[in-house]
Amino acid sequence: MAERTVTMRLLEVKGIQKRFGGVHALKGVDFDLSAGEVHVLLGENGAGKSTLMGVLSGAYVPDAGEIRVDDHTVHFARPRDAHAAGIVMIPQELDLVPGLDIAANLFLGNEITRAGVLSSAEMRRKAQGLLESAGVSLDAGLSIASLRMGERQLVAIAKALSANARILIMDEPTAALSAAEADHLFGVVKDLAARGVGIVYISHRLEEVPRIADRVTVMRDGAVVGTTTPHAPQAELVQLLVGRPFSDLFPSRAKAMGKPILRLEHAAFDPDIIRAGWQASVDISLTVHAGEIVGLAGLMGAGRTELFSALYGFGVSGRWRGVVEMHGQAAQLGTIHASRHAGVAYVTDDRRGTGLILNHTVAQNTLLSTLKRVTPFGLVSRALERREVLRALEDYDVRPRLPNAKVLNLSGGNQQKVVFAKELINRPALLLLDEPTRGVDVGAKAEIYQRLRGLADDGLGVLVASSELPELIGLCDKIVVMREGRTIHEFGPGPSEESIRKISEGEELAA
Ligand code: ADP
Ligand code: MG
Repeated sequence: MAERTVTMRLLEVKGIQKRFGGVHALKGVDFDLSAGEVHVLLGENGAGKSTLMGVLSGAYVPDAGEIRVDDHTVHFARPRDAHAAGIVMIPQELDLVPGLDIAANLFLGNEITRAGVLSSAEMRRKAQGLLESAGVSLDAGLSIASLRMGERQLVAIAKALSANARILIMDEPTAALSAAEADHLFGVVKDLAARGVGIVYISHRLEEVPRIADRVTVMRDGAVVGTTTPHAPQAELVQLLVGRPFSDLFPSRAKAMGKPILRLEHAAFDPDIIRAGWQASVDISLTVHAGEIVGLAGLMGAGRTELFSALYGFGVSGRWRGVVEMHGQAAQLGTIHASRHAGVAYVTDDRRGTGLILNHTVAQNTLLSTLKRVTPFGLVSRALERREVLRALEDYDVRPRLPNAKVLNLSGGNQQKVVFAKELINRPALLLLDEPTRGVDVGAKAEIYQRLRGLADDGLGVLVASSELPELIGLCDKIVVMREGRTIHEFGPGPSEESIRKISEGEELAA
């Protein structure tokens, strides 16, 4: 990586300590930030990231250590002091007032008045300008309540800029955003940096690092454990994050393999309606045995999600040709009803879109997919259902273990556990997983890997697509590569990233 040659140091902290009663949240932290830099602060839950940023933004007074802004020592007793020095933090829980419009939120506490009267028109006009300068195309008259989470995040950025932020601290800004919203946010953040704003970007998502960071600092357990380039190998970042080798995250491979569960031989799926951008399955040959975890690799658009959709009859209708067998018998897959009865379960790549209903409780979500458990009298048994849900929460270690908690309020890792519980409550034979660990803490990822291996050891067949090659390589017993709707290569356990990448891109492997 080319280092910036001329850097202007905006901020430097040294030896910051902070205790909360018995908790030593910061144990002597050093950190710095330059103008125009996006410095990602990475750490698992509880590492001390928010506390450090609380110190920088004047929310907490440190017990020890020094903060320097523009090479001058500063003391922040309250957020206003940090503001005056140009440091603004956008908290995880945005402090926007839903009942007011964007303009009113941007000027909250700094209302523009003319002869003691609020000048709404002027605020509206200035607000529009602020939105534009933050690269946001929203009408300043819209109420916050009408905005999606991604849009609210952008308003929060505009608000920070209205306070003339030179140093912007963002605490896990993508936690509640869709992939598309996150993409847009990354663009806005990069633009701000290009204009010289220094940005501290807090995240626990490894996959965000190469996309947004100029530099990354990892915290663990109240201390900085390393600073590195955003293109450091994932294994290095993981080791810093969790303090143990990357390879330790993965369970051992299949002990014994059972009979074939799913077998596709030159199978093709003809959708009833051909949609633009839909990569239909053209020629698929692969087998998933009981006890086996099979990985699906390929570039974006290779047709992995479409293959899952067609196998599960999800969001598409049509007909399979060629050999499609479950348990050695020709199977009619292609409608959700038929696929579920054949023992197929599917965890989509979009937890927030199709996997879970965020506003509903854990129990409601868990039971979404149940083939109703019916009593001898033909009634759905509530008591039976409740027992099943509690057992599932226990089995999947969902925290908190409250069937009536809203899924919305769970961490990403725990939401994903609910997705698993929901799909596995029917005891399927084959589990299709699309990007199962996206947006999940590394520690929670390791838990998911262990869980999948445990399920496979109990006889489940697993077919998993992931864009994270290290994950596929560490986890899978074999890896099938797809390209343009075709399976084009099969690797045994533990191929190199390089060889998978070459095949995915259509190169031949040297013999
Ligand atoms: P992160 O943002 O990296 O998830 P935090 O900075 O929120 O971590 O927390 C670091 C540690 O400090 C945790 O053990 C947390 O429980 C504790 N902690 C954070 N804020 C407080 C507080 N206001 N009172 C008591 N303990 C706190
Ligand atoms: Mg935090």
